Amino acid sequence: VSTYPVWGWGGPADEPSRADLEALAPLVAETTGVPVQDPLTPAPLPEIPPSARLGTLPPSLRELASEDPADRARHGLGRSYRDLVRALRADLAHVPDLVLRPRDEQDVTAVLDWASSTGTPVIPFGGGTSVVGGVEPVGLDRAVSLDLSRLAGLVEVDGASRAVRLRAGTLGPAAEEALKPYGLTLRFYPQSFERSSVGGWVATRAAGHFSTRLTHVDDLVESVRAVTPTGLWESRRLPGSGAGPSPDRLLLGSEGTLGVITETWLRAQPRPQHRWSATLAAPDFATGADAVRQLVQAGLAPATCRLVDAAESALTGTLPTGEAALVLGFESLLLPLGAETDAALALCRDAGLRVVEAGDRGAAGESWRSTFIRAPYLREQLVLLGVLVETFETAVTWDRLEGLVTQVRAAVTDALVRVCGGGRVTCRLTHVYPDGAAPYFTVLAPSRRGSEVAQWDEVKAAASEALLAAGGTITHHHAVGRDHWPWYDRQRPEPFARLLAAGTAAVDPVGILNPGVLLPRA
Ligand SMILES: Cc1cc2nc3c(=O)[nH]c(=O)nc-3n(C[C@H](O)[C@H](O)[C@H](O)COP(=O)(O)OP(=O)(O)OC[C@H]3O[C@@H](n4cnc5c(N)ncnc54)[C@H](O)[C@@H]3O)c2cc1C
Repeated sequence: VSTYPVWGWGGPADEPSRADLEALAPLVAETTGVPVQDPLTPAPLPEIPPSARLGTLPPSLRELASEDPADRARHGLGRSYRDLVRALRADLAHVPDLVLRPRDEQDVTAVLDWASSTGTPVIPFGGGTSVVGGVEPVGLDRAVSLDLSRLAGLVEVDGASRAVRLRAGTLGPAAEEALKPYGLTLRFYPQSFERSSVGGWVATRAAGHFSTRLTHVDDLVESVRAVTPTGLWESRRLPGSGAGPSPDRLLLGSEGTLGVITETWLRAQPRPQHRWSATLAAPDFATGADAVRQLVQAGLAPATCRLVDAAESALTGTLPTGEAALVLGFESLLLPLGAETDAALALCRDAGLRVVEAGDRGAAGESWRSTFIRAPYLREQLVLLGVLVETFETAVTWDRLEGLVTQVRAAVTDALVRVCGGGRVTCRLTHVYPDGAAPYFTVLAPSRRGSEVAQWDEVKAAASEALLAAGGTITHHHAVGRDHWPWYDRQRPEPFARLLAAGTAAVDPVGILNPGVLLPRA
């Protein structure tokens, strides 16, 4: 029986065969520069007996429950490199005792009531694409995974305010499909779009593919509705409000610790009428970054503004010339784009960049986007071929950007030599702001079979230390989860940490909601 549903990104037809992998191997070795290994054969699922740790479940919850071993195995892991490797090796140390799939809000309330009365930890699960250990029951003597997939779909459209009410379990493609008949789109495309959920986006403060203006889901959220162990938490629908700290902003990024998000109103938009894209070449990353800074500080807001370093540019086929690439895209609903795009090109030329191609929907922009969405499929193929491949990201103000990129590259390169005997780290800017940018790093290295997780943990710790030391945040959009907690704890003000702990205890007095995330383990 295939274990692809436990570790794979796609549907059954997407599982790479041994022959596929063998055919791909030479290309991977050539483009990544990392020696490949014989394709790994995924381990069979071990026996996962029904759990006796939960006691007797009330009959109303029994009909929501799944004890299926593969289902439980899948719900104990997210989608980081360490998750993928552990799933492939059937190294399943943390498996929830049960998966519960509520049909409606009443079911969610019933689950939280039962969990509070029995002290059972509950881990909300949207699409399970967390890359920071957000859904894994680590350090808990028992836990249930609360899978929101049945709480899905479009509930309401307010055409006048151009806002839509979506249930939390709706996945990206289903949300877009439901909005199509209304001529609307969320235009929110994280790379995990295919598999991640609206509720997960809100719970993790996810960021989409667009580089400026509406970057994080925060910018789309009008109100949030969540079930907490002590009652319903629903913020009022408002275009803006100055009434004290905001109830919906507190739920944003709460990662399942303040309540189970069941619905949200999001701002939607019509599809843009005008599109333009360009690829430019920069002699080096620093020159490209300076051009990008000037662009956004001039008030230009390209929808796509990805500065990719020379190595990654060659690797992804964005620009094979050994130069850094800047992929620019502008979009407009109503007004033609000429003035903005002319200004952007002139500014970039003055800043020392060379225009490779430009025009309506440039080919390079399209190819870059399709590589972006296909990346999770490619990643699992690389891992099967013994390549350590993972990403991490941050944000920092412009004054510290160059220093951060240099220091992080150096720290990670050193760690790779020490831990893997070599490897490479590439960098791109994914999101840009007038006052700073979000550098995103990709690591490729030879893995040592059986030690992949320990290898990555060491490299990741070196990267995280370097990020904090250079003034960055531990995450711009991947969230905190269990993996980032030690660094998150160091970057936040102490009174704020105490406030968060006290607030969490107020809505969840027993401490059942995703213990170990955002707060120290109980
Ligand atoms: C290949 C890949 C690419 C990615 N690209 C991006 C990207 O471009 N941008 C980005 O921001 N992130 C990205 N991520 C990370 C991840 O997809 C996001 O964090 C996403 O928002 C998680 O959504 P999900 O529905 O999968 O949530 P899950 O992984 O199921 O859960 C994430 C966290 O939120 C909590 N949670 C989930 N649903 C709810 C709910 N309804 N109520 C309360 N808590 C809840 C969970 O308990 C957990 O702590 C990527 C991940 C992968 C594997």
